[in-house]
Amino acid sequence: PPTQAAAVRDAFLSFFRDRHGHRLVPSASVRPRGDPSLLFVNAGMNQFKPIFLGTVDPRSEMAGFRRVANSQKCVRAGGRHSDLEDVGRDLSHHTFFEMLGNWAFRGVYFKEEACSMAWELLTQVYGIPEDRLWVSYFGGDPKAGLGPDLESRDIWLKLGVPASRMLSFGPQENFWEMGDTGPCGPCTEIHYDLAGGVGAPQLVELWNLVFMQHNSPPGPSPIPLCHLSVCLIPVILWGASPCIPFLAREKDGSLQPLPQRHVDTGMGLERLLAVLQGRRSTYDTDLFSPLLNAIHQGCGAPPYSGRVGAADEGHTDTAYRVVADHIRTLSICIADGVSPGMSGAPLVLRRLLRRAVRFSTELLRAPPGFLGSLVPVVVETLGGAYPELQRNSAQIASLVSEDEAAFLASLQQGRRIIERTVRRLGPSDVFPAEVAWSLSLSGNLGLPLDLVKLMLEEKGVQLDSAGLERLAQEEAQHRAQQAEPVQEQGLRLDVHALGALQRQGVPPTDDSPKYNYSL
Ligand code: ATP
Ligand code: MG
Ligand code: MG
Ligand code: MG
Repeated sequence: PPTQAAAVRDAFLSFFRDRHGHRLVPSASVRPRGDPSLLFVNAGMNQFKPIFLGTVDPRSEMAGFRRVANSQKCVRAGGRHSDLEDVGRDLSHHTFFEMLGNWAFRGVYFKEEACSMAWELLTQVYGIPEDRLWVSYFGGDPKAGLGPDLESRDIWLKLGVPASRMLSFGPQENFWEMGDTGPCGPCTEIHYDLAGGVGAPQLVELWNLVFMQHNSPPGPSPIPLCHLSVCLIPVILWGASPCIPFLAREKDGSLQPLPQRHVDTGMGLERLLAVLQGRRSTYDTDLFSPLLNAIHQGCGAPPYSGRVGAADEGHTDTAYRVVADHIRTLSICIADGVSPGMSGAPLVLRRLLRRAVRFSTELLRAPPGFLGSLVPVVVETLGGAYPELQRNSAQIASLVSEDEAAFLASLQQGRRIIERTVRRLGPSDVFPAEVAWSLSLSGNLGLPLDLVKLMLEEKGVQLDSAGLERLAQEEAQHRAQQAEPVQEQGLRLDVHALGALQRQGVPPTDDSPKYNYSL
């Protein structure tokens, strides 16, 4: 069986093309086209949304799509589906990942074929032992009057999955909805047991198979995120009730059966690779180890050793993961024309870049300009699959370096201002809230407030927290309304900071003061 990233990706695509007659389509750009509900493309199905919604131009190539497979570049770093807060802390979530997917549009095949193809690929082509695989299926939703998806359960039983390795979950995990309205249906997921039969299962989600069909009422946003990650899953008992039809949720919240049905699946390449390479972590695969090595070579830090949580003293391994993750996302996005900037997706990227700079300089002792030097490593590992990286590699590196330099300059200037202010303080004085506030808000600096606090801590100076709180409250009252649209985008911009910026006519230059640095 294939084990290296390129071979595993290719095996997926050729399995669906050669054995099952799928047409291969390239990954869409990570910049969503004509879809304001999305900051970034976050699932393989995004580019096929017009098919699901029934809005596809009949003259377009897509109108003829029936069986399709691809490897989609996905970013989950902002908006409703952001995994940013988990990245670095766990061993299975990335802000950029590749989603391998297959689709059957307009019912050319359905549950039975979808499940059996997935099972065939995982167990025969990739050679994953059957007894390490668990499946979950929709266990029903009494509130919505829906029974369990017994059809999927029976298909898995027929394929040889024993009931003891099946789980059923409610709508949160196993019912897929495009938004509040629109196409939806039950999904069934395949999980891998890292514990390997020893003790309680430790399941990591590998592949999601969604069974749905299109409908056209407007739905505000794409995919709800389930949150299973690496965890222990209790078996939930379900009660028998009639099988559910394929559905769309109408504006009044009701579910209507639909005439056409589609299969939409997605499997994370990084997680699959980890399984095939016998690792517990996506970072221990050939997609990440060249980056982790390059970070080790370029910084003064001890080598990456895969520790998580409390075991990761000094957050060194967390920093390795954050930096490796973020530079991949930055490279992929810049190659697709989304660069760090002031609002929306560009602001998310600026936030990623600054996070990466802080983690690398402060925790890994990276020299200035280090981040840009990782771009060629990303191009080396991903450029074969996504040639736009190769085409734009010089531009990506220089953009990253420029933004890094600008941020480092702001940091330096911030330190100078702090030092100057501290020199003037009397022995029992606290650091003035106005100065702290201006460091975080001034158009040139825009430093995250928690960083300002850290810098003060380093100096052993006490901040006028009450004063700062007062300023924050004033601003919140003043600008809460204007901040609303930004919050909707899920950028976690600080409403107080934003209000003050707007009042001063200064555009925001950085992410939230609530910015999660210390994890
Ligand atoms: P999880 O529960 O682990 O957060 P999910 O249910 O949000 O995953 P789906 O939306 O079902 O994920 O996406 C399909 C597949 O994409 C998942 O089964 C997983 O293999 C992969 N995947 C999802 N999110 C990430 C991520 N942040 N990093 C890497 N792979 C991911
Ligand atoms: Mg899922
Ligand atoms: Mg999930
Ligand atoms: Mg998730």
